Amino acid sequence: MAAACSRIVVVFDFDKTIIDCDSDNWVVDELGATDLFNALLPTMPWNTLMDTMMRELHAQGKTVDDIRKALTSAPIHPRVVPAIKTAHALGCDLKVVSDANLFFIETILEHLGIRECFSEIYTNPGFVDQEGRLRIHPFNSSPHGCTNLCPPNMCKGGVIEKLQSTLPEKIFIYLGDGVGDYCPSLKLREEDHVLPRKNFPLWDLISKSPMLIKAKIHEWSDGHELEQTLLQTISEICSSFLDEEDVNSQLVSADCKLQTMSTSGVREPLPRRALPMPH
Ligand SMILES: [Mg+2]
Ligand SMILES: [Zn+2]
Repeated sequence: MAAACSRIVVVFDFDKTIIDCDSDNWVVDELGATDLFNALLPTMPWNTLMDTMMRELHAQGKTVDDIRKALTSAPIHPRVVPAIKTAHALGCDLKVVSDANLFFIETILEHLGIRECFSEIYTNPGFVDQEGRLRIHPFNSSPHGCTNLCPPNMCKGGVIEKLQSTLPEKIFIYLGDGVGDYCPSLKLREEDHVLPRKNFPLWDLISKSPMLIKAKIHEWSDGHELEQTLLQTISEICSSFLDEEDVNSQLVSADCKLQTMSTSGVREPLPRRALPMPH
């Protein structure tokens, strides 16, 4: 099973997918800066606003430890951590692609004890500067030019394209909820799977024109369904690989038998891929 599952890459969005809130809003609300956030929201892009909010909180005397403490109380469904641990234990390669930031995501994943389950985190850089202020920068430092509803600071579809080109033999499972998860969903191929959170913006967009999505679509509503749907999808992919390996090993042994039997040279090469694949 592990060998088959190692051909699977599971890509998770973070906010409202792994955790059950938006980490940016959570920190702002927990540190009592909601009014300022709402006042500034119409004046600048979200990513710039978060960097500005961190400056304001720093000026008010809020420390990085206060932010860390707020993050560790972010809500998460009790089945999400076990789902992630199981997918990792099965041998899947897990990654995060998120429009939050590295500081928020690593703080929460470390707190949950699952940082090591993820091989890569693609997100906006977040780091503490010399003055002890948390800085948040855009993921895409130059315009990405994508028109698939992506925010100016991050095109998640670009990340998926990069992963597809560096890992061409892998099957992708993508889990997400937001508008920013639509672009990567459009990039998935027929053999991939997209798991949109039901009644959230990604699900709405996919439901409007499902024919635009090449991947198989499986919806989920909460952490319990996320666990069931993810593990079911992994299991289906793995067993299709195992069947394929079965067929191939049968073909190899059939091949050997034929080779020893065939002395006349009339044997046709066996059409390996022409056999019907069991589902
Ligand atoms: Mg999200
Ligand atoms: Zn995009």
